[in-house]
Amino acid sequence: MNKHFDLIIIGGGIAGSAAALRSAQNGQRAIWFLGDKNTRKRSRSQWVKNLDNIIGFHEDVIKTQVLKTLNKAKENRAAELIASEHYEINNRMIIQNTIERLQRDYREIEIRGEIVISVEKSDSGFRVHSPSGDYFAAAVISATGVMDEQPAITQPNRSGELETSPKWLYPFANREQLLYCIRCEGHLTRDEVVAVIGHSSTAAELAMMLFERYENKIYILTNGRKPDFTRDQQTILKHYGVNVKSAKITTIQSERPVKLQGFVLEGGETVEVRFALVSLGIHRVYNDFARQVGAELMDPEMPVDKRHILIDRKGETTVKNFFAVGDAAKRADEPIMKQVYTAMEYAVRAVDTIDNRRRKARRAKLL
Ligand SMILES: Cc1cc2nc3c(=O)[nH]c(=O)nc-3n(C[C@H](O)[C@H](O)[C@H](O)COP(=O)(O)OP(=O)(O)OC[C@H]3O[C@@H](n4cnc5c(N)ncnc54)[C@H](O)[C@@H]3O)c2cc1C
Repeated sequence: MNKHFDLIIIGGGIAGSAAALRSAQNGQRAIWFLGDKNTRKRSRSQWVKNLDNIIGFHEDVIKTQVLKTLNKAKENRAAELIASEHYEINNRMIIQNTIERLQRDYREIEIRGEIVISVEKSDSGFRVHSPSGDYFAAAVISATGVMDEQPAITQPNRSGELETSPKWLYPFANREQLLYCIRCEGHLTRDEVVAVIGHSSTAAELAMMLFERYENKIYILTNGRKPDFTRDQQTILKHYGVNVKSAKITTIQSERPVKLQGFVLEGGETVEVRFALVSLGIHRVYNDFARQVGAELMDPEMPVDKRHILIDRKGETTVKNFFAVGDAAKRADEPIMKQVYTAMEYAVRAVDTIDNRRRKARRAKLL
């Protein structure tokens, strides 16, 4: 097998998928590493239940066409069934569909369900090391994502012992009741009572933003931490009627099967909420490969494993032909946008830049 490619894509999330499809459609010879079960488990793509902040990503687009076909064929029972069904669209489905389309329709791309272990610069560009061997390319796109910090909650486990873990909240995260992204999911809290879980000025900022958008009832639960809000933030939060509670969360209240009802705090107070928005910052930015090739990271004051990878408007890092896209990347002149459409846009910018350089080099050889 020829192990030399035009580009190597690392990461089987949304950003990697967008890069893989674009490169195949450009006719570039690429290899795409999806990662494995462990890297997938910690990837943000897995958490998304239903995308509804991107125009076009909506069940009605296809449903309307299917219903037209069924109504024309007088398939009334089937039409009724389709009309009453709710079809969610999430990242996992989009990624799986991209993999299937690429395997079926494009021969330019090789897809490997394994992790990348390391990346180093080589004579021809980069050498990428995986469990199945070494692969070479003039360009690399790293799309390995980030992990959010999770709130730790102490609750009795099945054997009645107290256990401190974020796992108590996972069922709610999987059902879009515990939220992580105000721009993606904030609108779900309209007309509902919501708790922002966090203690930093970002948590205060998110609470203010929610109120300014939806004028709903908001709590900030600092879960045992001292609130770290500015004086101005404290004044505004007071005006907005935001209640700040600093006691530890001891129990999550829910209705069966899984419907968040609220939190019991140390001391016995109950805060009834329908949604909670986690605002604890980043647990980890998967920037390992950027570091290995010597690319510059953002935010020098932060611990190295929490620093985003600095990119320019093409998604290129400070190392030529090493690109970073998706949640792990950040431009110096823009706030960070951890969104599906941002991941897609930068993936396409990066792939097209690599394609431009490849085609220019080909022309240059002829002149
Ligand atoms: C709960 C939740 C809800 C969200 N809802 C929305 C929404 O409604 N709309 C929206 O626009 N955005 C939403 N987002 C944000 C969106 O999910 C992210 O912006 C997007 O998933 C980022 O994609 P990514 O490809 O950068 O990273 P990830 O999705 O984290 O993917 C990273 C990939 O890299 C792989 N990987 C990691 N290490 C390696 C390695 N060493 N080798 C090979 N592969 C590796 C992993 O297996 C994974 O496939 C939400 C996020 C969360 C957490």
